[in-house]
Amino acid sequence: MEEEKNKYFCEEHLDWAFDDYLIENEEFPNVFEVEGHQCDYCGKQAKYKLER
Ligand SMILES: [Zn+2]
Repeated sequence: MEEEKNKYFCEEHLDWAFDDYLIENEEFPNVFEVEGHQCDYCGKQAKYKLER
């Protein structure tokens, strides 16, 4: 089963998202700009997402 590995986050939580992603996946993600999502950490408007 393919896990959902995308992380959405605002500019403020970029470092957090990267750290969590590296711990969980042990590889560097790609960063994409997004609209219409919430930050996984604070619930504000997300500006980016991480994806394999
Ligand atoms: Zn945030």
